[in-house]
Formats: sequence, structure tokens, C-alpha cells
Amino acid sequence: MLLANKKVAIIGAGPVGLMMARLLQQHGSKVTVYERDLNPQSRIWGGTLDLHEDSGQKAAQTAGLLAEYFAMAKPMGRTLADDQGQVYLITAPNSNSPEINRNDLRTILLNSLTKETVVWDRKFSALGVEKGRWVIHFENAPDEVADFVIGANGGLSRLRDYVSDAGVEDTGSYIIQGEVLHPQNGCPGIYELCQGNILMATGQGQTLVINPDNAGVMSYNVSFTRPQNGTPNSLPDFNDLNRVQAFLGEKFSSWGEPYKSLFRASSSFWGLPTRKFPLNQPWKRHRPLPLTLIGDAVHLMPPFAGQGVNTGLRDALVLFTSLTSGQHPTIAAAIDDYEQQMFSYATEAQTETSINEVVMHQPDFSFKKRFGL
Ligand SMILES: Cc1cc2nc3c(=O)[nH]c(=O)nc-3n(C[C@H](O)[C@H](O)[C@H](O)COP(=O)(O)OP(=O)(O)OC[C@H]3O[C@@H](n4cnc5c(N)ncnc54)[C@H](O)[C@@H]3O)c2cc1C
Repeated sequence: MLLANKKVAIIGAGPVGLMMARLLQQHGSKVTVYERDLNPQSRIWGGTLDLHEDSGQKAAQTAGLLAEYFAMAKPMGRTLADDQGQVYLITAPNSNSPEINRNDLRTILLNSLTKETVVWDRKFSALGVEKGRWVIHFENAPDEVADFVIGANGGLSRLRDYVSDAGVEDTGSYIIQGEVLHPQNGCPGIYELCQGNILMATGQGQTLVINPDNAGVMSYNVSFTRPQNGTPNSLPDFNDLNRVQAFLGEKFSSWGEPYKSLFRASSSFWGLPTRKFPLNQPWKRHRPLPLTLIGDAVHLMPPFAGQGVNTGLRDALVLFTSLTSGQHPTIAAAIDDYEQQMFSYATEAQTETSINEVVMHQPDFSFKKRFGL
């Protein structure tokens, strides 16, 4: 038992950190998750997630949570349309990998953990070593100690600095996320066009993906090649609703009316430059005590292949398996085994994502052409 009498600290209560906690706790390990959100009710921004059969669902199955995922998630089809709102393909709801709201996924995972597992309102700031243990520093709370630290605090993780010299890279695109609280009234045209499915449309190198029912709210992403600052199309201030609406109205001026009504009906926006953490160099930093990273903290990538959370949940399963297989003499050796596997499959996922990113933002790209329709 590598983890017997060891205190494991996970930084970040995203889907990946919580899945890791669940797997370890189920196995009898002592694990605490430190999360910067104030409480479990804090709203998580972003579209729904679908767990893939060969990765996210495998982790959920090992954690005993697959039935809960299927009970709470919603099978959705795809409606493919052109930039004038002409629909050319509708697929049946996909019950093999249904869509789940991010807060619902967090609830499933939290309910599977013992009550005190997650400590809220703890923003990690730095790591130190004292008397053979990690000392975890927080911006807003007293230090904690642990024998093994797992960084699961997402794409901007500062824990990366303790394992690698590499920095996050811009991949060249930009995503604007928006939401409409009452789409049936606010933008009925686009709501009807979706037909209850996830709608995907492209034109002039711009892609729009809309989910009409993300726990009752319509949420969507727009993506395009990032404009240079100072050019006429440079990005707006995202705190200014009118400016974002005007920016999107201009950018999508040649698109059909239903799409324009979507932007006008939106009540909030979030701008996101696309970034990745490159895995093309081995990590060289000496780690004095057991420490590793999982999820976006280690292989941040844009969402153009739907691989982010799935790769992260796979990390949790692979790391858990390495730690508990009985095949490694030390935690460090188990971590090494996990990282070797992770570098390989996460690089594959990043490569698929990069290819999609380039292809999807070509001016002449359309899903119609891509799928030979
Ligand atoms: C627009 C968009 C669409 C996407 N669509 C998909 C998709 O369809 N399919 C898919 O597989 N993936 C998708 N992704 C990617 C997916 O959201 C991520 O891969 C996934 O959320 C990563 O999970 P995580 O637990 O590693 O990190 P996160 O979900 O980022 O969670 C990290 C947690 O750590 C906490 N935290 C951060 N900093 C600190 C700190 N200093 N101290 C303590 N806690 C901290 C955060 O509050 C958060 O709770 C999408 C991403 C975006 C942006």
C-alpha cells in the first residue's frame, strides 16, 4: 500500500481533481481537496461536457458513478446548419455519451465523497518543504501539510512551475462564450432552429456551437482566428455587454438573422484566448517529494476536439491505477509510470485538437464539406 498513512492533497475541485479524490477515497486513502471557489454552489461557467466511452466513462465506472452520470446527463443530437440558418443535417440524440452540465457533474462527484473532503475558499499560492513534508501555502488561509500533492487546478495552474520550465502557449484562436437565460422568448428563431439539439454552424472562418438546454439556459461558443490588437476588429471589453454585442454583430454581419438575434438576446459573455501547455519536452525540475499534475493543469488544450475533460479523467484513472497496482516500489515510481503514459495520450489529444483548430478556422471551412454532405 503505497499510500498507507500518507496524506494526499489535491489542489482544485474541478471534475478531474474530484474524480481523483473519489478514486483514492474509495480505495481507503486519506485525501483532501483544496478549492478556491467559495462553496459547492459557486456557479461554473461553460458549456456541457460529454464523457467519452474509452476515457471519461471508464473513470466514472471505476469510481462507481457511471449510473449517476447517465441519470443526470441528457442525450443530444446535432443540428448542422450553414451561416444563413439553412439546416442540412440532423442526427439522433446520442445516448452513448450524453451531455452533462458542469455543476451537475460537480454535484455527482461531491456527493460521492465524505463530507469534509473538500475545503472551500482555499486559493493555492505556493509550495514549500518542511520536515520531510510538503507545506501548502494559500492566499487567504493558514498553511496545510501533505505527503503527496496532486495539482488539478486547471489551465492556469501555478503548480506547473514546480515540475516544468515550459510556459503556456497561445494557439492563435479566440473563443467567446455567451448565454441566453430565456431563449424561447429572447431568440425564438435560433431556439427553434436547434430543434433541441446542439447546433453547429460555420462561415467565413467562424464557428458557432449552441446548446439550447444547458440546465435550462442556452449557452454557446463562437470561435475564430484571434484578431491582432489595434486592428479594426480587435477584441472588445468583455465587461461591456453592448460592446461585445456590437463586436459580434459586426463579425457576423453576413450571417442570417437568427444568429444576430442570439447575440442581441445574450445577457453575459466571457472571452477566452485559446492556449495549450506543450508536452514536447520532458520535465526536468527536481521534485523533492511526490508531486504530479492532472487535467488541464498538465495538458491544457483548446476545446476543438472535445478531449479536455476526457483526457483529464483518464489521467485520474491512470494515476490511480499506477498508485494502487502494487507494481511500483515508491510513489515516485508510480508517478513516473503515470506521466509516461499521460505524455503519450495527451500529446495525441493535443495534436488532434491543433489539426481541428487550423481546419475549422479556414475561410472556406464548412461542416457540410468536411462530412461530405
Ligand atoms: C469553451 C470550452 C468548451 C469546452 N468543451 C469541452 C468538451 O466539449 N469536452 C471536453 O472534454 N472538454 C471541454 N472543455 C475543456 C474542459 O472544460 C476542461 O478540460 C476541464 O474542465 C478540465 O478539468 P480540470 O478539473 O482539469 O480543470 P478545471 O475544470 O479548470 O477545474 C480546476 C479547478 O481548480 C480550481 N482552482 C484554480 N486555481 C486554483 C487555486 N489557485 N487554488 C485552488 N483551486 C484552484 C478552479 O476553481 C476549478 O474548480 C472545454 C473548455 C472550454 C473553455
